Order: sequence, then C-alpha cells, then structure tokens
Amino acid sequence: MLDVGRHPNIELRAFTEVDKVEGESGDFKVTLRKKARYVDEAKCTGCGACVEKCPTLVPDAFNEGLGNRKAIYSWFAQGIPSTHTIDPGYCRVFNGKKCGVCQKTCQAEAIDFEQKDQLLELDIGAIVVATGYDVFDPSRIPEYRYNELDNVVTAIEFERLLSASGPTSGHLDRPSDRAVIAEIEDLKKQVKKGSRLLANQEKKYEEKSPDFYAKYKAGEYPEDKERQKWAGQYAEQLRLQERLDALEKKAAGFKTAKKLAFIQCVGSRDHRFYPFCSGYCCMHSIKEAIIAHEHDPETQTTIYGMDIRAVGKGFEEYKVRGGNSSNISYQRARIAEINQDKEHNPVLVYEDTRARKIRREKFDLVVLATACAPNRGNKELAEKLGIDLSRYGFFQTSRVNPIDATRPGIFVCGCAHSPIDIPESVAQASSAAARAVQSLRTLEREEKQKEVGKAS
Ligand SMILES: Cc1cc2nc3c(=O)[nH]c(=O)nc-3n(C[C@H](O)[C@H](O)[C@H](O)COP(=O)(O)OP(=O)(O)OC[C@H]3O[C@@H](n4cnc5c(N)ncnc54)[C@H](O)[C@@H]3O)c2cc1C
Ligand code: SF4
Ligand code: SF4
Repeated sequence: MLDVGRHPNIELRAFTEVDKVEGESGDFKVTLRKKARYVDEAKCTGCGACVEKCPTLVPDAFNEGLGNRKAIYSWFAQGIPSTHTIDPGYCRVFNGKKCGVCQKTCQAEAIDFEQKDQLLELDIGAIVVATGYDVFDPSRIPEYRYNELDNVVTAIEFERLLSASGPTSGHLDRPSDRAVIAEIEDLKKQVKKGSRLLANQEKKYEEKSPDFYAKYKAGEYPEDKERQKWAGQYAEQLRLQERLDALEKKAAGFKTAKKLAFIQCVGSRDHRFYPFCSGYCCMHSIKEAIIAHEHDPETQTTIYGMDIRAVGKGFEEYKVRGGNSSNISYQRARIAEINQDKEHNPVLVYEDTRARKIRREKFDLVVLATACAPNRGNKELAEKLGIDLSRYGFFQTSRVNPIDATRPGIFVCGCAHSPIDIPESVAQASSAAARAVQSLRTLEREEKQKEVGKAS
C-alpha cells in the first residue's frame, strides 16, 4: 500500500467511487465522485488532535463495531492518505447541534463543514475491477444464533479481537464480559453523578444521606417535597451501587477465552446459500488458532468441519503443525445448533460424523468461518460499467480469458471475481494489469495499422 502511495505512475484516489462510465475500450470517459470528507486533505497533517477532542463516540466499523471511534476519524492508522474524515451521520454539527470543537482544535485549519462531493472526469484506456468481497451474514443461519449469543463471533470479528491494534489490544476478552465491563463503566459515571447530587443535599441540610434516609424511612418528613426528592436520589444511589458491586464481583472472575471452537463452511458449501467452497477459510481458521495459541499457550481449539481444505504449497504441513504444536484438534462434524449456559458459554450440539454420535461441548468462544459473499455494491457497479454478474453475484469473466469481464477493456481480479486468498489475488492483479496494458497496446497497433493503410 505504501509503495502504491509513493509510486510516480500511480494516482491513488481514496474515498472516491465510480459514478458513470461512457465510451469504449481505449477511450473510456469515467466520472468519479470524490466524496466530501469535510476535512481538507491538502491541509490535514494527520496529527489527530481533532479526534482527541471530539466528544461524539461512534461504533467503529473498522473494528466490526467491537470498539468505538469518534465522529471525526481515520479509517485505520496506516491508511493512505494520512488524513481524517467527518462522519455526517453522527457529527453534532450535521445533526443540528452545537459543536465545532474539531474546527477550533485543528491548527492546520483543515476542517471544512461546507465541503461538497466533487465530480471528476477522467480519460481512461482500461479498467480493472478489484472491489473484493463481503463477509456472509451468519444470522441467515438461525441455528447458529449469531445475533443472540454474545460469544459467537465471525472470523473477521475474532481477528479484530486478536489484533494488537484492535479493541482489546489483542486479548481474547469475551464479548459478554466486555458488555459487563462497559456496564460497570457506565454505572461508575452514574454513581459519580449521584454522589454529586447527594453532596449538594447533604450540604443544604447539614446531614449525611444515610442518617437522613433512616429517619425518612421511619416516617419523618411526610410532607416535605424537597426531602422526598433527596430520599429518592439516595434510594437510586443505593440501587446503582448494589448493581455496581455485584458486577464488579462478577468481573473479578473474568478470564480471556481459552477454549475455542471454529465452525467451518458457514454459508459456503451449503446449497441454501453458496454451494461452492470459499477457498481461504480453512487456512485462516488454522492461522487464527495458531496465533491465539501464540498469545496464550493454554489456548485449546477445535475446528469443526466436513473436511479441512488445505490446498496450496505447504498448507497441509501448516495444518499438521497446528495440530502438533498449537493444541488444535480437527473434528469432522455437522453442527446442529449452538446454545449457551448461564455463564454465556456457547454449547455446540453436533453430530460426530465419524463416531455417528450426537455430542455436546461447551466453549468460551465460538468463531464462525463465514463464506466469501459477493460485494453488496456489485450490482450497481456492474450496471455503471455495463458488465455482467455471475449467477452468484460476482463479476462474470470470459471462459477463454478468465480476467476479462464481459465488455472489452474491463478486467476483473481478486474476490471481485470469486473467492481466493491474498497470494492468488495479488497474482491475479498482476495478470489484470498486464491484460489491461496488452489491450491498450493492441488498440494502439490497430490504430497505427489503420493509419498506415489510409496513407498507402
Ligand atoms: C477473517 C478472514 C481472514 C483472512 N485471512 C487471510 C489470510 O490470512 N491469508 C490470505 O491469503 N487470505 C486471507 N483472507 C482472504 C482475503 O481477505 C482475501 O483473499 C483478499 O482480501 C482478497 O483481496 P481483494 O483485493 O480481492 O479484496 P478486498 O480485500 O475485499 O479489497 C477490495 C477493496 O475494494 C474496495 N471497494 C469495494 N467496492 C468499491 C467501490 N465500489 N469503489 C471503490 N473501492 C471499492 C474495498 O473497500 C476494499 O478496500 C481472509 C479472509 C477473511 C474473511
Ligand atoms: S463538529 Fe462533529 S466531528 Fe467535530 S468535534 Fe464536534 S462532533 Fe466531532
Ligand atoms: S475453505 Fe474450508 S471452510 Fe471455507 S468453504 Fe472451503 S471447506 Fe469450507
């Protein structure tokens, strides 16, 4: 990515989408929409002072909603260009409230609430579609209860939890435990606010709240509205403190997830959704289990699937090494359902297809290896580009030249075409670039031949 950013012949247009494509191979007129960031890229130094001061917290999409970001943000730390963006869906100014803190904080004067989307028209010879994939939504499989059970996560969510720059700094804190910690933080704030209110009352009546409350409960001050209010505030404070104490006691017993289950082929090789194999998920599950074990050698993982597809140089050896050195066991099984016990531990009910037995097993955390689904924007983009999609919603390519889309001058690579892993995507991207150059050279040659023909 850094190399692309620095390359003299590559112009990177981030936060920009294709609006319209006209013309033909060798002579496309492409209209791009550069979306408003409300931050002037040329002025923003990327210092992040605005982010620090912004008061608005927003679920962080880069961390799959497992953490928060601010209403002014950078998508991720190493992003290019190193600039910031205001999210108008959440920013107070765009929602009719008073703020502008970022504008006051920014010494580079980069904040521009008046910025508009810009339309740019470019002359383009060839187009490569590399828009990737979307993660299959596992809530479509009701028996896995993804939306109901806190400790059932997707592989991409698990990767964010495992990442040192993620919401848990790489610790495998369980989502159910994180929800309790978040409630504790919220309760602490409420208790602090309640203490301030009680301190005011205590000052006014020169009496401590517990002493006053004992008298109030004994029937004193029946007509005193102000003291009734104080009694209500104190009773609420007792309720909050009790809940806080109980949650803190519970949280003292929290441990990071050590017993992990991965369920393979979630949406893949399943005729209800995508009948094909997504290709990369067996290997990323093994990788994630190995990394989890590197973080904590007590980690034990079971990978449940029909089979493990370790197709590629050294992949089978990697799988075996995971089993021998990283506490991974591979279980041939079909998962019937996921339940949970009182402690929010997911319980798998499955058929052990080797032993032909129905079994139940409890885990700390279950990870769903979700299918590679076509990007949600494929239909709209295909219409703009005038190219076809396959029956599953990926971009259709020629059987003869598998990089060529269904319109001359447009090429497809990576998961925009079908599920493939990173090395294959990179190789395909090189092929697509080469095919694009080849198509332009062919057009140039044909043009020259026409001119020579005309001249002779
Ligand atoms: C949990 C998980 C772990 C994985 N781990 C590995 C691994 O360890 N090794 C491995 O080899 N593979 C791994 N993979 C697979 C890997 O993610 C894919 O092979 C790879 O991302 C495909 O690259 P791509 O460039 O085709 O698509 P993507 O990585 O999806 O990139 C597409 C880009 O296009 C952008 N885009 C989309 N639509 C538009 C539009 N209309 N206009 C402009 N831009 C657009 C997107 O924002 C995105 O940046 C993993 C996959 C998952 C789900
Ligand atoms: S104006 Fe919007 S982005 Fe700026 S600090 Fe306020 S809420 Fe955050
Ligand atoms: S790679 Fe493995 S988990 Fe993914 S679809 Fe294929 S068999 Fe299933």
